[in-house]
Amino acid sequence: MTINDQASARELFKEKCAEHNLKVTPQRVTIYEELLKAKDHPSADAIYKRVRSFLPNISFDTVYRTLLSFSEIGIINQVEGYGEKKRFEPNLYSHHHFRCLKCHAIIDFSHDAYNNIAVPDELKKQFQVLNKRVVLEGVCKECGKK
Ligand SMILES: [Zn+2]
Ligand SMILES: [Zn+2]
Repeated sequence: MTINDQASARELFKEKCAEHNLKVTPQRVTIYEELLKAKDHPSADAIYKRVRSFLPNISFDTVYRTLLSFSEIGIINQVEGYGEKKRFEPNLYSHHHFRCLKCHAIIDFSHDAYNNIAVPDELKKQFQVLNKRVVLEGVCKECGKK
C-alpha cells in the first residue's frame, strides 16, 4: 500500500466505525494499524503476537473478535484459508494472490487482465458475482531456493 492508500484506509476506518457505532478505541486503532503495516496477510494469532508489545494486557479473544468485526463492517478482508487459520488483509483494492503451497505465504499482485476476467454465462445466471480474484498457487522464491 502506498502512503496515500494508507491515509484513505484510515479515513475509511473512522467512517465505517462511526457508521456502525464501533467506538474508535486505542485497542482497535492499534490492531488496525498493525494490519495496515502487514504485507503477509497475517492470521489473528500473528496479529495478536504483534500487538502484544503495545497492548500487553490484550487477550487473543479480543484481537480475534476485533478482526471479525472489522471484516463485518467491510474495512478488512478475510483471505481464503483452505482449512488453515483465517487470514486477514487491509487491502480492499482489487488484487490477486500468489499462494505458496510450501510456506503458505500469500503475496499480492495486480494484473489488469485478471481484473477484467469474464464470468461464464451459466454462473452469471445462478450467482451474483461481487468479487473476482485470481489465486495462483506454486512455490515462492524463498522455498524455491531450498
Ligand atoms: Zn514459500
Ligand atoms: Zn491480498
